[in-house]
Amino acid sequence: MIYDVCVIGAGPAGMTSALYAVRSGLSCVMVEKLGYGGQMAQTPELQNYPGFPEGVSGFDLAQDMGKQAEEFGAKLIRAEVTNIDFSASPKVISTPSGDIKARSVIVASGVESRKLGCPGEAEYAGHGVSYCATCDGNFFRGKDVAVIGGGNSAAVEAQYLAGICKTVYLVHRRDTLRAAEIDVKHFASLDNVKFVFNSIVDRIEGADGKVSGVCISNVSTGEKRTIPVSAVFVAIGKTPATEFLQGNVDLDSTGAILANDSMATSVPGVFAAGDVRQKNLRQVVTATSDGAIAAKSALQWCTHH
Ligand SMILES: Cc1cc2nc3c(=O)[nH]c(=O)nc-3n(C[C@H](O)[C@H](O)[C@H](O)COP(=O)(O)OP(=O)(O)OC[C@H]3O[C@@H](n4cnc5c(N)ncnc54)[C@H](O)[C@@H]3O)c2cc1C
Repeated sequence: MIYDVCVIGAGPAGMTSALYAVRSGLSCVMVEKLGYGGQMAQTPELQNYPGFPEGVSGFDLAQDMGKQAEEFGAKLIRAEVTNIDFSASPKVISTPSGDIKARSVIVASGVESRKLGCPGEAEYAGHGVSYCATCDGNFFRGKDVAVIGGGNSAAVEAQYLAGICKTVYLVHRRDTLRAAEIDVKHFASLDNVKFVFNSIVDRIEGADGKVSGVCISNVSTGEKRTIPVSAVFVAIGKTPATEFLQGNVDLDSTGAILANDSMATSVPGVFAAGDVRQKNLRQVVTATSDGAIAAKSALQWCTHH
């Protein structure tokens, strides 16, 4: 069978793409290596997806989004996409259990947050260790928190948290920030942001199942200390899941797909949606929005080719 659209990844972007594709009359298959929901399924409580004033479990929302796409006719194949051939017509998407053929492709494979790899990080993930200030900052309103990292994303996360939290410790291993895009002068003038330079994280401490502090070492003096905080926001970068594209689609320096407002990539008939594309705000609401736009673009492509 040749599908009209093959969606790679069934996170919120992929499931929304599939829903919009099938509702517009296209045949559509989602290829997903795990289960429905991607990163969203790891979110115990989503407080900022509109329509849920009491919050919603990311896992439950993922099951419902998947069900909705399937009820309108989308198909799910559980497999990992390992290779693609976009020069062929139809396009070929390869998995260990066989090839899938489609006239158009929507890449919605998401990102993975880079980890510190220190003791306590995995143990307290979701209990004070976070990779997203927009997602979790509100849980620590009025509290002391730490942000780890020195690039743009760390600076943006710290700036966001400074508006919510009591004190934000920005821990960076070098003696100056690498952040380029923000107004560093304005940032430095924020009373409740404390810079902790030349410092690396040794471990994240906890008590009663929650983060209670971050233990750091000064790389110049060797001094060790613990900063008491309720949360540690790790902002050392995200790795877009684009390896399987093997350089066949234009990416930015971080590996994120470059796509325009219509979600079109550098390859005709190949679209990108959600966290995997270069964007400013990686959230469920922006992922679903991208998915709808990508499906509309795939419909236009299939109508004219
Ligand atoms: C712990 C946590 C908490 C969060 N909290 C919030 C929040 O409160 N509010 C909010 O709006 N956002 C939150 N986010 C961010 C939000 O979850 C993401 O922005 C959103 O899930 C992105 O959707 P996506 O579909 O683009 O990608 P993803 O959710 O990353 O989904 C991508 C999917 O593609 C699959 N995939 C990847 N590579 C392949 C391959 N080669 N073959 C097959 N399948 C593949 C993955 O398995 C995954 O299921 C949170 C994220 C995390 C990790």
